[in-house]
Amino acid sequence: MFENLSERLSGVFDKLTKQGALSEDDVKTALREVRVALLEADVSLPVARDFVKAVQDKATGQQVTKSVTPGQQVVKIVHDELKHVLAGDNEDPGELKIDNPPAPILMVGLQGSGKTTTTAKLALRLSQKSGKRVLMASLDTNRPAAMEQLAILGKQIGVDTLPIVKGEDPVAIAKRAKQQATLGGYDVYMLDTAGRLHIDEELIAQAAAVRDVANPRETLLVVDGLTGQDAVNVAENFDREIGVTGVVLTRMDGDGRGGAALSMRAVTGKPIKFVGLGEKMDALETFEPDRIAGRILGMGDIVALVEKAQETIEAEQAERMMKRFQKGQFNMNDLKMQLEQMIKMGGMEGLMGMMPGMKKMAAKAEEAGLDDRILKQQIALIQSMTKKERANPQLLQASRKKRIAKGAGMEVSDLNKLLKMQRQMGDMMKKMGKMGKGGMLKQAMR
Ligand code: GDP
Repeated sequence: MFENLSERLSGVFDKLTKQGALSEDDVKTALREVRVALLEADVSLPVARDFVKAVQDKATGQQVTKSVTPGQQVVKIVHDELKHVLAGDNEDPGELKIDNPPAPILMVGLQGSGKTTTTAKLALRLSQKSGKRVLMASLDTNRPAAMEQLAILGKQIGVDTLPIVKGEDPVAIAKRAKQQATLGGYDVYMLDTAGRLHIDEELIAQAAAVRDVANPRETLLVVDGLTGQDAVNVAENFDREIGVTGVVLTRMDGDGRGGAALSMRAVTGKPIKFVGLGEKMDALETFEPDRIAGRILGMGDIVALVEKAQETIEAEQAERMMKRFQKGQFNMNDLKMQLEQMIKMGGMEGLMGMMPGMKKMAAKAEEAGLDDRILKQQIALIQSMTKKERANPQLLQASRKKRIAKGAGMEVSDLNKLLKMQRQMGDMMKKMGKMGKGGMLKQAMR
């Protein structure tokens, strides 16, 4: 899967990573090519557009890391963005909610999507890998051959199927499956619903009726990955009508483009849980966004290299800062960084609440009105200072103070509070810095 896209992208990035310096135009050109590659892979237009925009924004705001080339950094950004588009805020890949036995799993999808095959593949996986006792039941009363097919697959993989009773309707079968699963001590029972060539009212009504009696823990939609955008549309429809908890993309062994996989999460908000990679019973893989992003880009070495470089730089920066703080150097740039960090971490309260022993201080900070709004005002004050003033706050005499306060639309008294805060935090940082150097231990021994 993804071969075509992968080839296209590696063409784009091979060029980029070999260049020493990158102009904004270089990045723009590369991203245009990425966009075309995504569209050719049948990724939906809004998803491709958002993707490129997100990469562009991140690439522009990115600090240049010395030991890697800008092109390598762009690769890393693209990798992270791929992961994001595949996963959203991912739950664990392939995790199914199947506690409280017997847990019902409802399998839905169009005819020919690979639903019955996937039901059996998943049953095999659950019984082999997770040691679950699984019961499968076919609800496809329109097509006796489909019921037979599941029974045959069940025998083949050694998973029980619910005996077929002629003339029973799908809801009755679902009830009988539940009964049998409960009596027989099964962990999971899988309901393979009827498919049709298109989504129609009867199909939806039937699936909904089964859903209502079975109350499934998971409703997995099986869609044919080869159908690209259509697969995403089908998923949107099924989700709207029946509600699905996850998607299985089949025939990914034949899909060199992978557009369905790339758009699914962004368009439907539903996670891809598994991909089918062949007709054999073991051809089912969990969908792991990290690994798949790596596979698409095929540049794992570069991604690892940039990650390492970023870690080193962060550590070096932190160390340099700590050294300065220990010497009592804490200027307005440092304060601004701290304030911005606080906003990121959920305000003063969030930050201090996380540090042991700081809970009380957090409450005090809240009393003092140190919420986000105030933090932002303080940042505005700092932004109103000149470079020189930020580095040397002691320069701030009356006339400068007036100008700065006015520039930020605030009062000189607000600025005085900020200056006091800078001094106090500077002191605190100095003390904390000393504690870090083993000072705490020395104090304790005294
Ligand atoms: P259903 O009508 O949705 O139940 O579809 P089936 O499970 O009967 O599958 C239809 C055909 O697709 C069968 O020939 C399967 O072997 C094949 N199939 C299912 N999943 C995959 C897959 O991941 N890759 C490939 N290559 N074929 C698949």
